[in-house]
Amino acid sequence: MKTIGMLGGMSWESTASYYKAINEGIKQELGGLHSAKISMYSVDFDEIEKLQHQDNWAATAEILSFAARSIEAGGADFLLICTNTMHKVAPEVEQAVSIPLLHIADATAERLVANGIKRVGLLGTKFTMEEDFYKGRLTDKYNIEVVVPEPDEREIVHDVIYSELCLGKFLDRSLLKYLAIIDELAEKGAEAVILGCTEIALLVQQKHTKVPLYDTTEIHASAAVTLAVKN
Ligand code: GLU
Repeated sequence: MKTIGMLGGMSWESTASYYKAINEGIKQELGGLHSAKISMYSVDFDEIEKLQHQDNWAATAEILSFAARSIEAGGADFLLICTNTMHKVAPEVEQAVSIPLLHIADATAERLVANGIKRVGLLGTKFTMEEDFYKGRLTDKYNIEVVVPEPDEREIVHDVIYSELCLGKFLDRSLLKYLAIIDELAEKGAEAVILGCTEIALLVQQKHTKVPLYDTTEIHASAAVTLAVKN
């Protein structure tokens, strides 16, 4: 079994989901008392969030690169950055280490392609919904058309992530707002919606809507398990 590298803490609420999903996946694959071999570095999200909103991505890349080198030194065979947003600096982090990065958008796109989804809605931080590092990868590499919410709705989705979900607050009123936005994406022709922020599945689950949901935390963790047990 390979050792999985986890760059977490963004936020720790979702890193806990990853840790559980990865261990459950390894248990399912190998049975008995098997658990995942993990080398993990968990950052202080307060520092990262401040730098994001100051548009100082170079400084976030330095913090994440240091963390990635520590993970590699801890014996990891490959690396997960346990957040969608911070894949904005994935190229810099990849440069800092010699182990491969399992990119969250690739894992997600491969699941979408396998299920024949060609037009997908995307929920996440404003960085993820508005910039090209994520949407562009889905479109250019996998030919998947991406639909995002309207600007005022993107604001709502973003604010709920930082002021509630990353703080472990899961409110019914925010669930209802997210469900309405998911319905609008489906009305705009999205065949499915990507929960493109690793905390969203703590609020919205498949049981809440008929629109097919793609939870990036579950998908990324599952791809890591597959890679870890592969010869
Ligand atoms: N975990 C979130 C994501 O998947 C947001 C937190 C962050 O900015 O990294 O994008």
